[in-house]
Amino acid sequence: MKITVLLTLALLPIGTVYCQQPIQENAVTSQSYDHRIPSDPQEVRESPAAKNIILLIGDGMGLSQISSAFYFKETLPHFARFHNIGLMRTSSTERITDSAAGATAFSAGKKTYNGAIGVDSDTISIPTIVEILSEEMWKTGMISTSSITHATPASFYAHVKSRDMEEEIAAQLSTSQIDFIAGGGLAFFADTSRTDGKDYLQTLKNNGFTIQTEQLLNTVDPNQKYAFLLAKNQMSTVLEGRGDFLPQATKLALNYLSANSDNFFLMAEGSMIDWGGHGNNADFLVSEMIDFDEAIGIALDFAEKDGNTLVIVTADHETGGFTLSAGETYDEINPTFSNGGHSTALVPVAAYGPGSELFRGIYENTEIFHKMMRAVSHSKSN
Ligand SMILES: [Zn+2]
Repeated sequence: MKITVLLTLALLPIGTVYCQQPIQENAVTSQSYDHRIPSDPQEVRESPAAKNIILLIGDGMGLSQISSAFYFKETLPHFARFHNIGLMRTSSTERITDSAAGATAFSAGKKTYNGAIGVDSDTISIPTIVEILSEEMWKTGMISTSSITHATPASFYAHVKSRDMEEEIAAQLSTSQIDFIAGGGLAFFADTSRTDGKDYLQTLKNNGFTIQTEQLLNTVDPNQKYAFLLAKNQMSTVLEGRGDFLPQATKLALNYLSANSDNFFLMAEGSMIDWGGHGNNADFLVSEMIDFDEAIGIALDFAEKDGNTLVIVTADHETGGFTLSAGETYDEINPTFSNGGHSTALVPVAAYGPGSELFRGIYENTEIFHKMMRAVSHSKSN
C-alpha cells in the first residue's frame, strides 16, 4: 500500500494542472471517448427566434449538485420550473474538461485543450457568441462570483492561450464590446496591483464604463456601461457573507440590458459550486447551489414576463464526484465526494423560452453554442 502511494506521488505531474487529478492505476481509458455524439444539423426550431439569451453556468454543477437544492433548500428550487431538459457531454480535447475549455465550447462551439480561453487547439482565436452578437448591436453582460477575468467569463470575451494570463484577460476586457460586468477581479485592472503597472481601470473609463468598487447600484442608466468590480480577486462566499450579490446582479443586469436595446446576451456564473466540490465541502457547495438557484429564479421571472427571452442553465462539468448518499438511515442524507477534481459525468441542461426545445436530447458541450445561434437566427429552420 505504502509503495503504491509513493509511486502515485512520484507520478504526480509537476506544476499547476487545472483542477485535475492524476490518472489513477485503475483509470479507464475508454475507446468510446473518441466517439462524439453526432450533432443534428437538420434540427428545426419550433418557436419564434429568441430576442434575448440568458446563459446561467453553474460551475461544477452535476445532477447531484442540482438535486441537493431539492433536499436542502427551504423552498422548491426554481429548477422545477423547466420543462425542456437535455443532457450534455462535457469532455474537452481531453477526457475531463476544465472550466476554460468548457466555457470556450459554450462561447465558440469548439472543443479545445484545458486552460484555453477563446482559442482552438492550435491557440488560434475563435469568435465568441458575445463578439458575434455585439456586431449585430446586441447588448452584452457578464456576471461571476469569482473574478470577472476567471476562466468561465473570460472565455466569452478574451482570447489567450492560458487561463493564468488574467492581467492580459483584464486588458482585453477593458477594450471589449461588453456593456455590463459584475464580479471580482479589481486587482487585475488596477495599476497598483498589476505586475506591469498599467492602469486598465482608466482604459475601462475611456471605453465608456462607470466603475463601482463598493457595491451594486439600485438603478443604472441604460446609456452608460457599468463595471462592478467588488473584490480584488474572487468575491467572498455565501457562507462568508456574500449575501444576494448573484441574484441581485442578475436582476440589475436584466434591468439595464433590457432598457435600451432590442436584443441582449447575459452570462451569469455561479463559480463556487465548483469550489465546494474541489474542497469536498458540502455546506459550501450547497449554499452556493441555493444562491445560484435564486439567480435562476430572477432569470425565469424576467423571461416569463418578457416572452422573447431564452434562458439556458447548465454546467461546464461536474466537480467532486458528489453524491447524496444515505446517512445512518435511509431518511438521512450524508453528502459525500469521490474525489477533489472534476468528473466527466454528463450534466443536465435546462432551457426555457423561445428556442428552448432545441436543448432537449443528448449532445456535446459545443452544441450549446450552435443551439444558441440557431435559437436567435432569423430564419425559422436554422
Ligand atoms: Zn474546478
